Amino acid sequence: MAQEDVFKKLVAHCKEYGYVFPSSEIYDGLAAVYDYGQYGVELKNNIKKYWWDSMILLHENVVGLDSAIFMHPSIWKASGHVDAFSDPLIDNKDSKKRYRADVLIEDYMAKIEAKIDKEVTKAQKRFGDSFDEQQFRDTNQRVLDNRKKIDAVNSRFVKAINEDDLDEIRQIIIDAGIVCPVSGSKNWTDVRQFNLMFSTEMGSTAEGASKIYLRPETAQGIFVNYLNVQKTGRMKLPFGIAQIGKAFRNEIVARQFIFRMREFEQMEMQYFVKPGEELEWFKKWKEMRMKWHQSLGFGEENYRFHDHDKLAHYANAATDIEFKFPFGFKEVEGIHSRTDFDLGAHQELSGKKLQYFDPETRESFVPYVVETSIGVDRMFLQIVTASYTEEELEKEDGTKDMRVVLKLPPALAPVKLAVMPLTKKDGLPEKARKIIENLKFDINCQYDEKDSIGKRYRRQDAIGTPYCVTVDHQTLEDDTVTIRFRDSMEQERVSIDEIGKMIMEKVSFRKLFEN
Ligand code: ATP
Repeated sequence: MAQEDVFKKLVAHCKEYGYVFPSSEIYDGLAAVYDYGQYGVELKNNIKKYWWDSMILLHENVVGLDSAIFMHPSIWKASGHVDAFSDPLIDNKDSKKRYRADVLIEDYMAKIEAKIDKEVTKAQKRFGDSFDEQQFRDTNQRVLDNRKKIDAVNSRFVKAINEDDLDEIRQIIIDAGIVCPVSGSKNWTDVRQFNLMFSTEMGSTAEGASKIYLRPETAQGIFVNYLNVQKTGRMKLPFGIAQIGKAFRNEIVARQFIFRMREFEQMEMQYFVKPGEELEWFKKWKEMRMKWHQSLGFGEENYRFHDHDKLAHYANAATDIEFKFPFGFKEVEGIHSRTDFDLGAHQELSGKKLQYFDPETRESFVPYVVETSIGVDRMFLQIVTASYTEEELEKEDGTKDMRVVLKLPPALAPVKLAVMPLTKKDGLPEKARKIIENLKFDINCQYDEKDSIGKRYRRQDAIGTPYCVTVDHQTLEDDTVTIRFRDSMEQERVSIDEIGKMIMEKVSFRKLFEN
C-alpha cells in the first residue's frame, strides 16, 4: 500500500476510535489544531508519564517545574524570539498557496535522495548477495550526478540561511526549477521572514494593556526559574529541570495531521553544566534519548540522528532524533547544546545575576546548558504510526478476514484490560464487573458486553487493548477466565486471582525502563 494511503487510514482510524478529533469540527475545524479524544488523552498521559518518570525517577539530579504560559515580554526579547523566531515564507502567485521556502528546498533534496535510494535498491536486486552498496554509491554515474546536485544545492542553502540571504534562497528555488505542487508553476514571490509567535494583550484598558506572547517553547520558563530551583533545591551542577507544557507557533504551513500543529505540547529538559563540559553531556544525552525511543521496540532501523550543519544562534552542537514516518524520516526530538546564551541574555536584559557559585572552586559563573526537547504530539504520532497494523487472518472455513490492530506497547495502551461476559445473563455481567472492581485502582479496565466475542476482540484490537478476559459459565464454577493476548491472539485459561499480578507486570513502566 502506498505510504500516503497508510497515513490517510491512520488519520481516519484515530478519529473513528476516539484518539484524535479535528478541533471545532462542527464549525468545519480550525487549521492545525486538534483535540484528543477519550483514548487519545490516555495515550498522551502515558507518553508524558514515560518521559517524566524517565527524567525525574531515573535521575536524582533532575527535578520538575510547571511554569506559566504567559511570561514577561522581555523574556522573548532576550531569548531572540522577537527578532529571530521566524521562517522564510514564499507564495506562488498562481495558486496563491504559501510555503516555507526552506522546506521547499529540503523536500527537493529529499526527492533526489529518494532517487538515489531507488537506484541502490534496484542494483541490490540485480546483483543479489555479491552487491557492494558502498562501492555502488561511490562509482555509479547516476548516483554520483544526483549526489553532486544535492551537495551543490545544500551548500548554497546552508550559506544563504546562515547569512539570512532571502534573495539567494529564492534564487535557489528558481535555479532548481522547483514548482508549486498545486499550480505546477514557477511563478514565485519574494521570500519574506514571518515571525511564528502568537501575541495577545494583557490588561483591561487600551492604554494599560501590554503585548504579551503565547510561549513558543517551554524552555524559557525553565531558564528564568533556574536560580529559584537551584537555590531552593540546593542543586549542584550538573543538574536538570524538566517541564511538560503547551507551546504555540503560528506555523506557515501546517500539514501532516498532528505532526505540525499551531498549539502543541512539549517535554523539555534543560541540563545545567560547567562551561567546557557541555559537549560531553551533549553526547551522553544524545545516547540516553535515543535509548528512550528505542526501548519502545519499534525497530532501531526506524530511527536516526540528523546532526545540524546550520546551528541556531544559541547552539554549539545540535542534533535531531528522526523517526521514519509514512512521509519520510522527520524530527521528533531536538538535542541542543545551548551554551550560556539564554542565561547570559536574561542576565544582561534583566540586570539580575544568574550565576552559579561553585563551592569547590569558590568561583561564580553562568552555567552552560544542554537541552532535550520533544513534542508530545509528534511522539504520539510516532507511536500510533509504528503500532498501526493490518493483518490478514484465515478463518476456520478457509476464507480470509482482516483485522486492524494498534500494537501499542502495553505500558502506553489507554485501556489495559477489557473484561467481557460471554452473555448478558446468568450472573456473568456481575462476575465481570466484580473483576473490574478489584483491578480498577491499579489498571485501566473496560467493561464490554455488546456484540459477539469476535467483534468485541476486533474492537479492542483497534483500540490497542493488550489483554481481554472473557467470563463464561465455567468462571462461576471454578473462578477461572480466558485471557486473550492482542498480538498473538493466543488464549489461556487462568485463575481470576492471577490476572491482576500478571497484567500489572506486563504493563508496568519498569519493563520499558529495563529495556
Ligand atoms: P521543525 O523543524 O519541525 O519546525 P523545530 O526544530 O522548530 O521543528 P524545536 O523548536 O526544536 O522544533 O522543538 C522541539 C520539538 O517540539 C520538536 O522536535 C517537535 O517534536 C516539537 N514541535 C515543534 N514544533 C511543533 C509543531 N508545530 N507541532 C508539533 N510539534 C512541534
